[in-house]
Amino acid sequence: MSAFLIDGKAAARQLRERLAQDVSAFAKRHGRAPGLAVILVGTDPASEVYVRNKVLQTEEVGMHSFEYRLPADTPEERLLAQIDTLNRDDRVDGILVQLPLPAGIDVTRVIERIDPAKDVDGFTIANAGRLATGLDALVPCTPTGVMFLLRNLHPTLVGMNALVIGASNIVGKPMARLLLQERCTVTIAHSKTVDLEARCRQADILVVATGVPQMIPGDWVKPGATVIDVGISRIKQENGTTKLVGDVHFESAVERAGAITPVPGGVGPMTIACLLANTLSAAQRRTEVQSHL
Ligand code: NAD
Repeated sequence: MSAFLIDGKAAARQLRERLAQDVSAFAKRHGRAPGLAVILVGTDPASEVYVRNKVLQTEEVGMHSFEYRLPADTPEERLLAQIDTLNRDDRVDGILVQLPLPAGIDVTRVIERIDPAKDVDGFTIANAGRLATGLDALVPCTPTGVMFLLRNLHPTLVGMNALVIGASNIVGKPMARLLLQERCTVTIAHSKTVDLEARCRQADILVVATGVPQMIPGDWVKPGATVIDVGISRIKQENGTTKLVGDVHFESAVERAGAITPVPGGVGPMTIACLLANTLSAAQRRTEVQSHL
């Protein structure tokens, strides 16, 4: 039996349509649209594509987009000064520094310079700490997108066994915290985990975010499980062409899973939509705080 295919493109489109309505309501109430500022340092081709998509989709839902392109040899102090300016700019509700940054720039210093109220990537220690302690937080976009897909699929996740493979600050750790908040029983696996196969076989929800192409064979998947594949890698095929694949061996997993995300077209499209959702909620929170002062 073939699994239900989770359509991330359609889910992201629905989310953006809803956001466009909420953005328009916000603009009517407050006389301005929410604003997202994106800073790109250098000319990494993949980053250029991400930034272009972010800018386009920001404008499509009716938000203001502010784009700052700095040369690869920009001194760290210049980048920090740019962030300070945006922290003070009332038209800007969200600030995103596109990663990776050129060598020589201290990523932690840069991220920590962003006002946590404008940290729409959810990467600051303040937002990570708030998420870890169950407080209202701006949460990283990819795990937020995964939760959106899971909630569409399951009326409740309470009591399910969830396995998150990958423990990065950007995906794995916040993912595990969100699943814990839904009262799943959560296991986090990583490159040193022993007997990953046995753990996979017990998972009702399997989220894989390692960046290792097709590392999870289909027969490790518990029959009927929900499989969320966050990984994206480009591999070379025998005929010399390349294709995008995830961390799960899709062709075999689709025969065992109850539902599965394809790559591409699964988790990927949700990430930018959730960035826009975070920008709107940052705008709403900042405006509420200001109106209470
Ligand atoms: P990362 O390199 O920061 O972390 C990878 C994690 O996987 C680490 O915790 C590592 O211990 C674990 N790991 C590596 N090899 C493993 C193995 N053999 N067995 C078990 N665990 C292993 O990566 P990341 O930034 O979290 O990204 C992971 C993947 O997700 C990448 O393919 C990335 O491109 C993709 N990604 C996709 C989106 C999206 O929007 N779809 C967003 C972010 C990341």
